[in-house]
Amino acid sequence: MRTAVAETPVIVAIDGPSGTGKSSTSKAVADRLGLAFLDTGAQYRAMTWWMLANGVDTGDPAAVAAAAAKPVIVSGTDPLAPTITVDGTDVAGPIREEAVTSAVSAVSAVPEVRTRITGLQRTIAAEAGAGIVVEGRDIGTTVLPDADVKIFLTASAEARAARRSAELTGAAAADVAATREALVRRDTADSARKTSPLAKAADAVEVDTTHLTLEQVIERVVGLVNEKRHDR
Ligand code: C5P
Repeated sequence: MRTAVAETPVIVAIDGPSGTGKSSTSKAVADRLGLAFLDTGAQYRAMTWWMLANGVDTGDPAAVAAAAAKPVIVSGTDPLAPTITVDGTDVAGPIREEAVTSAVSAVSAVPEVRTRITGLQRTIAAEAGAGIVVEGRDIGTTVLPDADVKIFLTASAEARAARRSAELTGAAAADVAATREALVRRDTADSARKTSPLAKAADAVEVDTTHLTLEQVIERVVGLVNEKRHDR
């Protein structure tokens, strides 16, 4: 019997710090390979948005832990139109606001938050028929350690700040130095936390995107996934 390799679900984990092109790469790879897509940062942002909207002190880990089970977070996994709702409200816009960005590292360091969101992520991955591209910080190390392909994207702090600035508008866009400082602060917090920090899995392929175009990164990752599919 001929094995239908293309139909075997494939799990792709793409981790790395902010501004390395994770989201754009992951969406494009998922679209080209016919896979689902999950932005796990959006889930942590949605949790943080709910805490802020409900008056929870995000600087108090005990208060965050006590509320972590409450919000109902639902992710839509179409790479061309990903969605995120909290208690039925579309929060795709609000989760990108500065208030959420500055509080998200503290919220995502709380173990009860990670356990809850990791559970959601594993369920979504298990239910993705053709397979899924999951992007985040701890996907290859903790969430899906058996992923078929693990990628760790990096880039210089300068390149990451320039890319992030290009996504912003007005005065925020002009201040690349402030953007760089905020990025580095968030990555340091994400890498230093005790529970499931930002880290490269031992078996992940590291791709430095500093001098690559988005298209080059996408082609590299698509190539790695295809190699893996042919090997099995
Ligand atoms: O990817 P994004 O910048 O939207 O992620 C927002 C934040 O969510 C990160 O700074 C980090 O604190 C948290 N995060 C995490 N684990 C993941 C994905 C994101 O802790 N797998």
